[in-house]
Amino acid sequence: MDYFNYHKGELHAEGVQLSALADVIGTPFYCYSSAALVHYFKVFADAVSALDATICFAIKANSNIAVLATLERLGAGADVVSQGEMQRALEAGIDPKKIIFSGVGKSRQELQAALVAGVTRFNVESLSELEVLSAVADTHGQMAEVSLRVNPDVDARTHEKIATGRQEDKFGIDLSLARGAYRRARALPGIDVSGVAMHIGSQLTELDPFRIAYSRMADFVGVLREDGHTIRHLDLGGGLGITYKDEKVPTPEAYGAMVAETIGGLGCKLTFEPGRVIAGNAGILLTRVNFMKEGTAKTFCIVDAAMNDLIRPTLYNAHHDIVRVAEAMDHESLKVMDIVGPICESGDYIAKNRGMPSVTSGDLLAIRSAGAYGAVMSSTYNTRPLIPEVLVEGDEYAVIRRRFEVADMLALERLPPWLSGSRISAANVVGK
Ligand SMILES: *Cc1c(COP(=O)(O)O)cnc(C)c1O
Repeated sequence: MDYFNYHKGELHAEGVQLSALADVIGTPFYCYSSAALVHYFKVFADAVSALDATICFAIKANSNIAVLATLERLGAGADVVSQGEMQRALEAGIDPKKIIFSGVGKSRQELQAALVAGVTRFNVESLSELEVLSAVADTHGQMAEVSLRVNPDVDARTHEKIATGRQEDKFGIDLSLARGAYRRARALPGIDVSGVAMHIGSQLTELDPFRIAYSRMADFVGVLREDGHTIRHLDLGGGLGITYKDEKVPTPEAYGAMVAETIGGLGCKLTFEPGRVIAGNAGILLTRVNFMKEGTAKTFCIVDAAMNDLIRPTLYNAHHDIVRVAEAMDHESLKVMDIVGPICESGDYIAKNRGMPSVTSGDLLAIRSAGAYGAVMSSTYNTRPLIPEVLVEGDEYAVIRRRFEVADMLALERLPPWLSGSRISAANVVGK
């Protein structure tokens, strides 16, 4: 299924003509399809419908409140990794009883805020965190429901920077140490340890690493139960990959069947935390060609989007398909070029050595599969204002985040009194 298709030679997002949208919004901007979000969520939900499961969208993948509200209507909860993300989930109307608080380095302040908000469960990643959560919960006279995130030492066979389930990764508690951690957890006031959590990485293109990890989880649940722990919840994380180029990825159906096989018989309530598989192919990044430049060794297509808007190519060597918004004709021969942004870094590229149909200054390009880990990872490097996000539904569109202005950035900055010549405000002194 694709929601970004050509009609009469022009790329559309659902029923919205992207060139017309670009005229109104200005480039670059992110554009998401509501129908695509709904579709990918439903495909995942259907695939696990036979299981007693909650789907908590990993909102770090795309945390715009309009996207979250779209998924909330379908029954989605949220997996959050910061207080800010929790606030977004609540703002989007997600029931705190469907919010899981994950993350390797939650602050005391964040734990407290999450307890007050009433999130359903904490996925705890270390003994130190457990002690702090216990102290905070106890002070508030509350019980924190906890799953320990265990590290099953499985290689997810994905990009180095998004593998999280190996012993050398910072995430979770080593399986060999986890038994002791559960014993400790049970002894702590304010802690109700009733679950096991896992998340072994992102953009997994094979089921086997999941299968190994979930089998280890099942064995571990057996061990915990023998030790007298009541385990009612299993959190299986996210990580299912998507097709960016030509990857053959497991279907959610196959994934759901494998889950049923490995841990379906444990009598636990399940939580899934998909991110990319819901949002990744539900968004594109629209950009306009500023200049073409012929070098001796290369042709450069300089566009108005850059690594600050979409860092995945730079950070992960990620591939994103790039298409011309005006449909390419069959007879057009491809020319190899680098698609690069205006930022002063050689690492600022969207694609290298990419065969493209004819492109000239002013042409619009669509960078595909940009709905996950796109806008959320953007920065204002080179004082480039954050770009708009637009959500389309049918033939309607809405700007769901406006373009930042340079003034928005400058408004946060101040000259110190010793530079501004101002005698009105005094300089601050601390630690004396
Ligand atoms: C990033 C993350 C996810 C989502 O991963 P995807 O690959 O986007 O599905 C889920 N759970 C945790 C704990 C994460 O860190």
